[in-house]
Amino acid sequence: MENKKYVYLFSEGNATMRNLLGGKGANLAEMTNLGIPVPQGFTVSTEACTKYYEDGKVINEDIVSQVYRALSTMEEKTNKKFGNVENPLLVSVRSGARVSMPGMMDTILNLGLNDNTVEGLSKLTNNERFAYDSYRRFIQMFSDVVMGIEKRKFEDVLDKVKEVKGAKFDTDLSASDLKEIVKQFKGIYMKEMGKPFPQEPKEQLIESITAVFRSWDNPRAIVYRRLNDIPGDWGTAVNVQSMVFGNMGETSGTGVAFTRNPATGEKLIFGEYLINAQGEDVVAGIRTPQPIAKLKGDLPECYEQFMSIAQNLENHYKDMQDMEFTIEQGKLYFLQTRNGKRTAQAALKVAVDMVNEGLITKKEAILKVEPKQLDALLHPNFDQTEIKNAKVIAKGLPASPGAACGKVYFTAEEAKEHHEQGEKVVLVRLETSPEDIEGMAAAEGILTARGGMTSHAAVVARGMGTCCVAGCGDIRINEKNETFEVSGNVYHKGDYISLDGSTGNVYGQAIKTVEPEISGYFGTFMAWADDIRTLKVRTNADTPRDAMHAVKFGAEGVGLCRTEHMFFDEDRIPAVREMIISKTEEQRRKALVKLLPMQREDFIGIYEAMEGKPVTIRFLDPPLHEFLPTDEEDIKDLAKEMEVGFEELKATVASLHEVNPMMGHRGCRLAVSYPEIAEMQTRAIIEAAIDVKKRKNYDIVPEIMIPLIGEIKELKFVKDIVVRVANEIIDKSGIKLKYLVGTMIEIPRAAITADEIAKEAEFFSFGTNDLTQLTFGFSRDDAGKFLGDYYDKKIYESDPFQRLDQSGVGKLVKMGVELGKQTRPDIHLGICGEHGGDPSSVEFCHSVGLDYVSCSPFRVPVARLAAAQAEVKNPRK
Ligand code: PEP
Ligand code: MG
Repeated sequence: MENKKYVYLFSEGNATMRNLLGGKGANLAEMTNLGIPVPQGFTVSTEACTKYYEDGKVINEDIVSQVYRALSTMEEKTNKKFGNVENPLLVSVRSGARVSMPGMMDTILNLGLNDNTVEGLSKLTNNERFAYDSYRRFIQMFSDVVMGIEKRKFEDVLDKVKEVKGAKFDTDLSASDLKEIVKQFKGIYMKEMGKPFPQEPKEQLIESITAVFRSWDNPRAIVYRRLNDIPGDWGTAVNVQSMVFGNMGETSGTGVAFTRNPATGEKLIFGEYLINAQGEDVVAGIRTPQPIAKLKGDLPECYEQFMSIAQNLENHYKDMQDMEFTIEQGKLYFLQTRNGKRTAQAALKVAVDMVNEGLITKKEAILKVEPKQLDALLHPNFDQTEIKNAKVIAKGLPASPGAACGKVYFTAEEAKEHHEQGEKVVLVRLETSPEDIEGMAAAEGILTARGGMTSHAAVVARGMGTCCVAGCGDIRINEKNETFEVSGNVYHKGDYISLDGSTGNVYGQAIKTVEPEISGYFGTFMAWADDIRTLKVRTNADTPRDAMHAVKFGAEGVGLCRTEHMFFDEDRIPAVREMIISKTEEQRRKALVKLLPMQREDFIGIYEAMEGKPVTIRFLDPPLHEFLPTDEEDIKDLAKEMEVGFEELKATVASLHEVNPMMGHRGCRLAVSYPEIAEMQTRAIIEAAIDVKKRKNYDIVPEIMIPLIGEIKELKFVKDIVVRVANEIIDKSGIKLKYLVGTMIEIPRAAITADEIAKEAEFFSFGTNDLTQLTFGFSRDDAGKFLGDYYDKKIYESDPFQRLDQSGVGKLVKMGVELGKQTRPDIHLGICGEHGGDPSSVEFCHSVGLDYVSCSPFRVPVARLAAAQAEVKNPRK
């Protein structure tokens, strides 16, 4: 049998082979085929990575021999030889998953160097300094990235030698200084690993490939995957590519560039480069890079060629490209191209501009913006009056727009911890690295002292939509004391600062933030999304204010109004409590009479805010004891207030106690026990609708939703109450009013018996919060405590309360849809659990044929876009 192919030369692949070759590998192959100058190389496939894990984290012999074979071809093509002293082949090794993933191992450069080849390289290039500089870089990278030896140990040596030699920059070090550094670096390796630095290039290579595979599963990569919905079984590819050198003198250099501005979307090539440097120098932000326009003066021919290839790449991929290039002694090479990460503002502008330029269609444009990114646009700006009087204490690069205000913390751990305690935090770092990812995700804003617009902090913050000011050299951070100093003032841990990610301004005080205005590109783009999508988007709103907010964001109705939230209002709670502690139906009815006008007013407000758009109102859902105090003192106070005996009230509270309230006396069970509650709520809903219909002439069709149904008979019981009361009021009013009675499907039994339930229910709304907790059998309030262990142990990849568990809970949803339609083909179907605003879950809802999703107001635009993307990928029209 033919062995499986795990290794592909660049000339054997193309852009469509992304799943197999990873994004980087597929694009290197595509560029090779397009005739763009790309250094020779090959890709070890993602399947090799999955095989590595299947085999218990061992690299298979077959993969190793395929790597060696590809290496021989590379040797032939480059006319260089691995480990050869006269003419050594040196390679870079880079990870490359289907989507670019900070958190994984990134790059090893100069692999193939050893004590002999370094001499060869020195002779060949006639540049001993260059050869030893390459070697010391390689030892450091290999030790750090492959073997996990602390980087700091190497940096300390470098700093010490620089100090002794009076060198300001690395470039000031001489060949003999670098030789000394190499010697000391090898010493560190020996001490840490208990064996000498590997001299055999093939061993270096296989170790490095294995390290890339390993890095797929490091904790940072796992966190990144969870934040970005990337499945763990994709694996990463590894790219091995012949080295070209940007550090061979003044006609060499290296840089990164975008075909458009990744922060604003402006159509202008945007990039940075360094003369006489290797790639890591640009990204690490150690030396300050030059703007790409300056290359025109430095190396005009390279500049022209670069500009023309960049433009071709953008036209070819029909998307903004993020490119890495190196110039080796006047010859330009492209090392990578990929669709560039960009801010939400830039994503919208680029998508709209590209349609207007005729480069892409509207449907293609819709796929170019990450739905979750829209969040960033909806985030606050600074209050204009406060900002006018605020003093700028420092200025850095405007790396990721938005406004942030919070307390300063200097480590990712502390930022995360204080965020979890409810504080707003700003993460301040010299520069960030992938292990900071959780702290960055927790922060309102990120401030770094070092790094350019393409530094880790800038790239990651833009992707997250988090405000970031990078490369702020004005501030001096003292990590040990946890302070930073700027113009003589010292800021401590816990002090407030504010950041403006659009200007780069840093303010030494708290500044109020305000909601943003939505217009321009956003409006145009979202209108296209609305034209395309077939799934409606509603909102979960409990107050007229929330409902109005959501309408501004494009909500087409209210999918869930949780009436209990209105009950918690200060002026209502006494009547609610009176109802709860009532001993008789008569007492209860008395209390409900007090609540009726308040509920009616609430519903009038929502109907008016929605201007005739559909509104689903759900009956009281939580267990009643949630409205009562538990503390003795509070019970005493309440007893006084309600003019009942303390002991009596205490006994009532105790009698309402439930061992497992989430599975207790709640939802429709309340209406079964106390039909008068359902009567009052029906009356409030119908009377409010009649009132607004009369006054405003909106065509209101109230949707009355009964929660927590698990049995058709209980639905029928409650529905009968609704129909009796509603019809009585409507008949008396002399007005024609249609209304619907439906249910939530949030108990597995309801999904399983949905054909029965649909005999009575005119609509279903999938309550996937409860459906998830009851399907998994763990509480939505407690799962957070142990889900972390499940991620660590790779049992779950994501939080099923955020991202719908399609294979389990989703199966129940699908079954509910199918059974419901069997009985009632025109049954109206929606979802109102938190998943209604999660893009991958929205896509699922589209695919199973729901009519709408409902989510919190701020997520409405996200859901609209996700719904449009679902339609483009899987058309229902
Ligand atoms: C649900 O269970 O999905 C739902 C929307 O209801 P709640 O979150 O109020 O229980
Ligand atoms: Mg529920």
